[in-house]
Amino acid sequence: MARDEFSLIEEFFGALGAPSANLRLGVGDDGAVVELPPGRQLVVALDTLVEGIHFPTDSAAADVAHKALAVNLSDLAAMAAEPDWFQLSLTLPRVDAGWLEEFARALDATARAHGIALIGGDTCRGPLSVSVQVAGTVPTGAYVTRAGASPGDLVVVSGRLGDAGLGLACVDGHIELPAPLAEDCLHALRRPRPRLELVPFLRAHASAAIDLSDGLQGDLRHILRASGCGARLRRDDLPVNDYIRRQGAWEYALGAGDDYEICCCIPPAGREAIDAWNAAQADCPLSVIGEITPGDFLLEHDGARVDLAQASGFRHFG
Ligand code: ADP
Ligand code: MG
Repeated sequence: MARDEFSLIEEFFGALGAPSANLRLGVGDDGAVVELPPGRQLVVALDTLVEGIHFPTDSAAADVAHKALAVNLSDLAAMAAEPDWFQLSLTLPRVDAGWLEEFARALDATARAHGIALIGGDTCRGPLSVSVQVAGTVPTGAYVTRAGASPGDLVVVSGRLGDAGLGLACVDGHIELPAPLAEDCLHALRRPRPRLELVPFLRAHASAAIDLSDGLQGDLRHILRASGCGARLRRDDLPVNDYIRRQGAWEYALGAGDDYEICCCIPPAGREAIDAWNAAQADCPLSVIGEITPGDFLLEHDGARVDLAQASGFRHFG
């Protein structure tokens, strides 16, 4: 990009987010320098959002900025890591100062809300695409992975499933929802909340965890593969809005992506901790939706059993 375009980028991305105690050198040199506190390990994640694929064409710059950071923070939450800093790679079709200002302001707000600093990045010209790499830390050995679930563990999810999928179906004109629900679902799609408040709980109690980016059925399958077990879920215990429950539109809870809730496995001794969490944390309810088993991956409802082990096990979007 031309020099004056770079000064614009420096203006917007030079000092963004919250100050990091571990940062020695940030944006402006050939690389950033960060300390790793003794006794901690670094956990890094990277996700790219491409216009027209991961967010609708002509989305608000603020929504794109928020989502690009939030989906990465969600990965750190699933690893039980506390975020510290991030890098941003921006591919822009043109330099549009108004767009960049809105993008940078929203990115700054989300970064500050989570106490993290932008320490570097890259900028080039091309179809709109935003990559964020985020880094966090854990006390050595305290990270949680997809492997580690055992038969008897409770399968637990945070929040509500399927709202973002319904929001996308609204945007695409596939369904029409009553106004208040439509707003909630569009908000869930555009403004996912990384569940970082669960980090201490996951460290203390979870045998395995994953964040729900592609839908419960597929994402839980990753835990089952990594852990070498199966699961039995109860459909009626899935936390969904009234529309999904009334319409029987369970495919939104099972197969639609973008919820960015946490799915984790909790050994049975943790049941009291789940109840205690729910008594204290109204904004991030945890629902027990089933158990880990030695073998099959099943969904039970009305005395019937649906095989979820195959992608075709449940009704899917075309
Ligand atoms: P180099 O050519 O040495 O890779 P760049 O000109 O790409 O350097 O970047 C100069 C500085 O600006 C670096 O510190 C880089 O991290 C930072 N930077 C470039 N683009 C961004 C961006 N979109 N967000 C944050 N920092 C950026
Ligand atoms: Mg560069």
